Amino acid sequence: MSLYNYITYIEYLNKKLSGFFENQKEYICCKKGCAKCCKHGNYPFSEIEFRYLMFGFKKLDINKQNEIKNKIINLNEEKITSSEKYLMYECPFLFNDECVLYDYRGIICRTFGLMYFRKDGSTKIPFCAFDGLNYANVLDTETKTISEGKFEEHGYKQEPLAFNVHYNFLTDKDHEFGYGIEFGERKTLLDWLIEEFHIQ
Ligand code: SF4
Ligand code: SF4
Repeated sequence: MSLYNYITYIEYLNKKLSGFFENQKEYICCKKGCAKCCKHGNYPFSEIEFRYLMFGFKKLDINKQNEIKNKIINLNEEKITSSEKYLMYECPFLFNDECVLYDYRGIICRTFGLMYFRKDGSTKIPFCAFDGLNYANVLDTETKTISEGKFEEHGYKQEPLAFNVHYNFLTDKDHEFGYGIEFGERKTLLDWLIEEFHIQ
């Protein structure tokens, strides 16, 4: 599985996403050291995204690699004993609230924080809005929707917008065809890691 075309796609995606984040900057609080979105999730990864992540992993020093492997062993135990269908966990690549594989992170990691459209056309507000972060300044906490009134009241220049950045859309057949890539199988990040490191 060649990573070359995938890297080209990631460069394109980074540019596109940074335009969206810039457009929405009046509502965005993302900054280095804020990592709520890496602390409670199951993180879908396609095979090519995972291979790119592992490409970055191999560049880490051996002590860091071992620390990460130990975290994965613990998460696997948690998964085995959990009664939840989908275990939600802190990503093992998070250290002191920073991603040690930031440049190699997955697509879901890159889009998190923006509002996006679901398949049915409805709008998904990032969960951190309910923790006082992204879009909290225009959130109506009772209706759990974006408040037009608050947007006008604050006199923001750009209205709060959702974008077409759903994970399934960004990894669909059209993108595969357009960039000559194959995303391959999809699993949660933890499932990929358990398999990669042969954890029992
Ligand atoms: S998406 Fe939310 S939780 Fe994640 S870095 Fe941005 S503000 Fe923080
Ligand atoms: S890979 Fe990095 S950005 Fe993605 S969830 Fe893990 S720590 Fe967060």
